Amino acid sequence: MSKFNGKVAIVTGSTSGIGLEIARQLAGNGCSVILTGLGDQTLIDSLLQEFQSKYSSKTSYVSADLTDVTAIKNFCEKVKEEYPQGIDILVNNAGIQFMAPIDDYPDTIWNDTLAITLTASFHLIKSFLPLMRDKKWGRIINMSSQQGLISAPGKCAYSTAKHGLIGLTKCVALEGAPHGITCNAICPGYVDAPMAYVSIKRLAEVNGTTYDEEQAKFISNSPTNKVITVQEVAELTLFLCSHLAGNINGASIPIEGGNTIR
Ligand code: NAD
Repeated sequence: MSKFNGKVAIVTGSTSGIGLEIARQLAGNGCSVILTGLGDQTLIDSLLQEFQSKYSSKTSYVSADLTDVTAIKNFCEKVKEEYPQGIDILVNNAGIQFMAPIDDYPDTIWNDTLAITLTASFHLIKSFLPLMRDKKWGRIINMSSQQGLISAPGKCAYSTAKHGLIGLTKCVALEGAPHGITCNAICPGYVDAPMAYVSIKRLAEVNGTTYDEEQAKFISNSPTNKVITVQEVAELTLFLCSHLAGNINGASIPIEGGNTIR
């Protein structure tokens, strides 16, 4: 029997990168998945077709711009219409990153970064936690970053949001624990996924270097000297969502080759 048969998961930011791989692995293990994230109709149709042809569990797509609280509330209502018992697993993975010194940091991007990472996670947890409590079981995973544990120049909004997400994780972990609900944060380093490509490109522009040179620096920052794969992050997520991880709660788990311990 697949590990997540009968379970239902929302994975935000599941139209690309890490979130898409998490959704694929959950669906591959019998979980019904609600995909959500930005993308044109062609992308959404092709993802739905892929999931429906590969996996026996149910897959839906419900759109929401996570910078917009009304859109988030509409999203929650639509999910509850489809699944009146609520969901079992919530993965708050969506995120954006823009790098600039704080003097020049655009207000709109600061607001959007905090909205997508922090405020959207708050509203989604607030909406679905009571139904997890009714089931006496739930798993909440918040995708932070090594930037939630350390920081770097140019990352004021990203690092602030990712640190904040760890605070939210700890509070929800304590409130959920008596009801069989765990909440943990994952803190990846450089993952071979689109957000890192944007950062590498931007650093190459700023430093007058090539993409390959900046990528080599990213890789050598990690003591293991390796890029992290989306598969590795997804497998960690699935472990934290499993019954085996019932006593891992409120943790912020780095997956960065040891970069943050120096
Ligand atoms: P990605 O750009 O491939 O995916 C981001 C997802 O968020 C997409 O599905 C996108 O549609 C969604 N999203 C963005 N803005 C949105 C909005 N306004 N409303 C709704 N959805 C929105 O990025 P990724 O590399 O897969 O990263 C996924 C998560 O992992 C992010 O939270 C990121 O901060 C975190 N992370 C990534 C890395 C890395 O190296 N790639 C490292 C550490 C942490």
